[in-house]
Amino acid sequence: MQLKYASLKESSAKLKFRHQAFINGKYVNARSGETFDCINPATGKVLTKVTSCDHEDVNLAVKAARKAFESGVWSQRSPNERKNVLLKFADLIEQHQYELALLETLDMGKPIRDSYESDVPGAAKCVRWHAEAIDKIYGQIAPTAPNVVAMITREPLGVIGAVTPWNYPLYLACAKIAPALATGNSIVIKPAEQSPLTTIYVAQLAQEAGVPDGVLNVLPGFGETAGQALGLHPDVDAVSFTGSTEVGKLFLRYSAESNMKRIFLECGGKSPNIVLADYSNLDKAAQSSIAGVFSNQGQICCAPTRLLVQENIREEFVDKLIKHSKDFQPKDPLDPKTIMGAVVSETQMDRILTYVKSGESSGANLVLGGAQARKNSGGYFMEATIFDNVKNNMKIAREEIFGPVLSVLPFKTMEEAIKIANDTHYGLAASVWTSDINKAHKIAKALRAGVVSVNTVDTGDITVTFGGYKQSGIGREGSLLGLENYTEVKTTWIELS
Ligand code: NAD
Repeated sequence: MQLKYASLKESSAKLKFRHQAFINGKYVNARSGETFDCINPATGKVLTKVTSCDHEDVNLAVKAARKAFESGVWSQRSPNERKNVLLKFADLIEQHQYELALLETLDMGKPIRDSYESDVPGAAKCVRWHAEAIDKIYGQIAPTAPNVVAMITREPLGVIGAVTPWNYPLYLACAKIAPALATGNSIVIKPAEQSPLTTIYVAQLAQEAGVPDGVLNVLPGFGETAGQALGLHPDVDAVSFTGSTEVGKLFLRYSAESNMKRIFLECGGKSPNIVLADYSNLDKAAQSSIAGVFSNQGQICCAPTRLLVQENIREEFVDKLIKHSKDFQPKDPLDPKTIMGAVVSETQMDRILTYVKSGESSGANLVLGGAQARKNSGGYFMEATIFDNVKNNMKIAREEIFGPVLSVLPFKTMEEAIKIANDTHYGLAASVWTSDINKAHKIAKALRAGVVSVNTVDTGDITVTFGGYKQSGIGREGSLLGLENYTEVKTTWIELS
């Protein structure tokens, strides 16, 4: 379908927002009756009021999830049956592509082009992939003595708590719902307060596909209330969290203070992107590096925000970066031609501007952007921003900014580049550009990151793992390995008489 600006504006004006929690198969208000404003970051205006859940709602949702799990209504269905329901769920996501894309863009500020062509199809693909996988996974029979059979099998964990961030709301929700449900668990998911609408919406699609009541529950609300209550709940078996490293650490604490629930963390990053002078197509490297760092308004966990450029090509390369940045002009996210929308909130924009000030005052060279854009819109738009001559000990090189800000750091030798690249407490992703296959292998091996890309940046697919070394996380999502988070392993010995 060809997206048209005028019809998108018309549809968005008429859009009805689902705004309640989804507990035990029904949309309901919070017990407290509390709500919060859901803001369109492109206009600063309130889209709708959303139910604000707290510990009472968490208790209800976990109880419903546990009851559904114990009843076997989902957990005891054959993998093939679960697969068919999830495949229908994926189909329904695709059938609602237009509404979901609109919701995502209005709620979060990302370009409609991305929501429609990438986020919604990506979410459907993720659900479909997990559905297809689940009836193709086998247990193991151990090589024991002939009078014994020992089996290693996987079982669902029980009730999964999931907590997601605001940057890819629908995709990240599906990246937790799909593996949790495919493996037979029940799930209680809390979307980020900045962008809860698509997660609330898909609960009903899952129900329509045949997910039984209580198996999937959605609790919009704040981190300090609903999120914390989920983390501390004694009847939640595991929490799958995506968000900042700071909050990820809180979940480890919640687990220790409650029931030692399993905690899987997908956290922040400050990914290095090394460009060696020998690379044959510096234009391509510059263009991809820019797209990697400015797409989604720079709000990407694995964005290659530390660009390490070999000193002898640095000037030439920075010129290329500036040239390719011209495509990233902040515009109305509802216009299908827009490739850079609004950042998620005023708080986030102010945070980015504070980092820009820090970069300037620490002596880095601001060569592009650095200011708020489209002020008259009432929304939160930020210029694509580049700092040159950044040192790795500067705040802008060490901390995750989570906005469209690129730091360029010079290096002389390959060894120095590896040292700078690894000098961070993050380890989510890393890239290297070189035409020398030996250097490519050597650097890829030396980089301490969960995903390393050579002659490309920020690549990924559901067929491979995603996750971080060091303080970028614990565990992996994606591929068959990602499904392991959602299962418990059991050994069963049978002695034959
Ligand atoms: P955040 O950590 O502030 O919030 C994430 C979620 O945690 C939200 O739902 C929030 O309500 C909840 N939360 C906040 N405080 C909490 C508390 N005290 N107790 C319990 N829950 C709490 O992160 P964000 O600002 O929403 O998202 C940006 C961060 O997410 C960045 O650090 C980014 O790198 C990270 N991220 C990581 C990945 C990944 O796959 N590694 C993907 C996307 C985003």
